[in-house]
Amino acid sequence: MENTLQSTVKGTGVVAGVAYAEAVWVRPRPDLPTEGSIDQEASSEAEYDRFLEAVDVVASRLENRAAAAEGQASEVLTATAGMVKDRGWHKAVRKNIRSGKNAEFATVGATDKFVTMFEAAGGVMAERTTDLKDVRDRVIAQLRGEQEPGLPMVEGQAVLFADDLAPADTATLDTAHIRALVTELGGPTSHTAIIARQLDIPCIVAVGNKLREIESGTLVFVDGALGTVTLGADEEESTKAVAEYRERAARVAEWTGPAQTKDGHRVQLLANVADGNAARIASDSQAEGIGLYRTELSFLSASEEPSVDEQAKIYRKVFNAYPDSKVVVRTLDAGSDKPISYATLSSEENPALGVRGLRIARDNESLLTRQLDAIAQAAESRGDDAETWVMAPMVATSKEAQWFAELCRERGLTAGAMIEVPAAALMADKIMPHLDFVSIGTNDLTQYTMAADRLSPQLAYLTDPWQPAVLRLIQHTCIAGHEYNVPVGVCGEAAADPLLACVLTGLGVNSLSAASTAVAGVGAQLAELTFDQCQQLADAALNSEGPSAARAAAMEQIEKFN
Ligand code: PEP
Ligand code: MG
Repeated sequence: MENTLQSTVKGTGVVAGVAYAEAVWVRPRPDLPTEGSIDQEASSEAEYDRFLEAVDVVASRLENRAAAAEGQASEVLTATAGMVKDRGWHKAVRKNIRSGKNAEFATVGATDKFVTMFEAAGGVMAERTTDLKDVRDRVIAQLRGEQEPGLPMVEGQAVLFADDLAPADTATLDTAHIRALVTELGGPTSHTAIIARQLDIPCIVAVGNKLREIESGTLVFVDGALGTVTLGADEEESTKAVAEYRERAARVAEWTGPAQTKDGHRVQLLANVADGNAARIASDSQAEGIGLYRTELSFLSASEEPSVDEQAKIYRKVFNAYPDSKVVVRTLDAGSDKPISYATLSSEENPALGVRGLRIARDNESLLTRQLDAIAQAAESRGDDAETWVMAPMVATSKEAQWFAELCRERGLTAGAMIEVPAAALMADKIMPHLDFVSIGTNDLTQYTMAADRLSPQLAYLTDPWQPAVLRLIQHTCIAGHEYNVPVGVCGEAAADPLLACVLTGLGVNSLSAASTAVAGVGAQLAELTFDQCQQLADAALNSEGPSAARAAAMEQIEKFN
C-alpha cells in the first residue's frame, strides 16, 4: 500500500501548484445570536438607525479597500460593499426590528431568508451564500463593537485554511505570505477559486469537514493540481517539490504555444469550460480552443428545459469566445452528482451507475435532439474554419455511439463520444468506426475502472488517474484511434497534470483539454521532452504497480534525460 505513513485529505484542486507551510485558519466568525429583542426604552426606529450606522461603517471600510485595490480584487470589494447596502436586505432587517427583534438578531433572520432563497436557486446562486453570510458577520461584529472577522496577520509563510473565504478576504490576500488556499466549502466558481486563479496561488476547495481536524500551526504540503493536503509529508521531498515548482513556474510564465514536444510533435491544448465567462477567460490563455464544454452546468438549477432558442443563446456565448477555433460541446451529462430536475430520474439507488449522460436520451430522445438542434443553431454563425464538435457522455457500447453519431450528422455536426466507461475503452475498435473523434474522460474512467467513487476523499488513493489500469485503457483506446484514424483526446483532470500529460502524449493522445490555468504548465513541460522520451515515460508508467510508482517511474525517466 502506498503512502500509509502520511495522511491526506482531498478536495477539488482549482489552481495547480504546491506549497509547504503551516496552516493558519482565518479569524473566526462571530457567534450568531439565537434570540434578542429591543430594549424597552429604545424605539424600533432608533434600533434600525443603529443597524444603518453599522452598515455605513462596514460599507465604507470595504469601499476604501476597493479604492486601494486593483482589477478583479477591487470589483469584488465593491460588489461586497454593494451587498452591504442592498435595500432588499435592509428592508427585511427593518421588518424584523419592527417585530421587536434587536438589530443583531434581525440581521441574522433577514440573512437566513436570503440564504434559503439562494440555496433553493442552486448553482452559482448557492455559491453566493458565502458572500451574504460574510456581509452579515461583518455587520454583526460592528454592531457589537468587535474586531472584523476574516484574515489574520501572517508573518513568514502560511497556507490559509477557511470554511469558505469571503470575497472581501480573498480580494486583499497578501501573496508574499499566503502560499496556498484551502477551503472546507466552496466550489470551482466560488470567489475563493476566482481570486486564487487571478493571483495564481495554489488552491483547493470543497475538502469537507475533515479539514477542521487540521489545526493552525500544523505543517502541511498542498498540491493544487491533485487537490490534496498532506500531513506528515517528508520535509526534504516537500521543500524540493516547492523549489521545483517555483523554477517551473518561471519557465511556464515564458512559454508560448502552440504546444509541441521538443522535436516538433504537435499536441493540441484546449480548455475545459462551463459557460461563456469561462470561455472568455480561456481565450486569454494559451488554449487553442475548447476541448470540453460541460453544457449541463448551465442547467443545474433550471426547473424546466430551456427552449431551443434559449439554449442556442447560451451556447453562442461559448462559441463567441473562440469564433474561428475548435469547440467541443458535450451534450447534457445530467445525473449522478449533477442532477437536473427536468432531465434526471428523481430517485435511483445508485445514481453513478444509473441513468446518467447519454442514457437519459434512451427514453427521451427529443431532449437530446432539441439540444443538438440548439448547438447546430448556435454554430450557424461561426467562421468557416471553426470546428464544432459534439460528443456524448457515458457512451458504453458501439450501438450507442452509432445512434448518437447519426443524430449529430443529420444536423451537420461532427460526432464524437467520451470514453469514460471501461467497456467503451475495451471496445474502442468497435466504437471508433462510427465516430469522427473520441475524448477520454479520465475522471469517470478512473472512477469506474477502480470501482471507487470519485467524490470520496477516503478513496483518493484509488481515484488517482496515474493508476496503471487506467493508463492501459487509454493506451488501448489510442491504438484503436490510430488504426481507424480517429483523433483521441483527453479531457479529464489528468490532462492538467504536466507530467501525466507527457505520459498521455507518449500513449498516443492527440489533444489535451484541461482548466485553462493548467494549459501553459502542460505546454511548457511538453516542450522539454521529445516524443520518443514521452513514449519512454508512458512505458515506465504502464509497467508500474501503482499510481505513486507510476509517477515516480516517470520522474525517474525525466531525471535520466537531464
Ligand atoms: C471525465 O469524466 O473525465 C470528464 C471530463 O467529465 P466530468 O468530469 O464532467 O464527468
Ligand atoms: Mg465524466
